[in-house]
Amino acid sequence: MARVVIALLVALLAAALHAPVSAQSTPCAPTAPDMLGPFYKPDAPERSVTGHGLVVRGTVRSAKGCTPLPGARLEWWSADTRGEYQDELRATQRTGTDGAFTYETVAPGRYPGRPPHVHVKISAPGHRTLVTQLYPRDGQRAIATDFVLLSE
Ligand code: FE
Repeated sequence: MARVVIALLVALLAAALHAPVSAQSTPCAPTAPDMLGPFYKPDAPERSVTGHGLVVRGTVRSAKGCTPLPGARLEWWSADTRGEYQDELRATQRTGTDGAFTYETVAPGRYPGRPPHVHVKISAPGHRTLVTQLYPRDGQRAIATDFVLLSE
């Protein structure tokens, strides 16, 4: 019995030692850029909801110190469930004072040659503009992700 307890304690200690340290104490890895693609249009209407089926939540951060970026601008565009781009699925939004955002849209459909994806372009003063894409899995209804921008 004592051996079992000791083995359990050793396992717990090993788990604790390997637990990830908090995000604040590690540098934020910059988010990998991805293709802009041919369907971007500037000046999409300001809104945080363009449909239902997929919610993206997170915080825009600076790679420098991992600090949240209030007032960062996110521009979203994606295809409808049939894989066709629609102006109704374009949006511009800004992060709040805590750098957080929530965007809700339809689950993107597949179009020839590409897995389903959502495009986003993120800009913030003093930072390099980031263009990237998210790839929701089949049936995935929520994505939690931070976007980390390189400082200039
Ligand atoms: Fe696309």
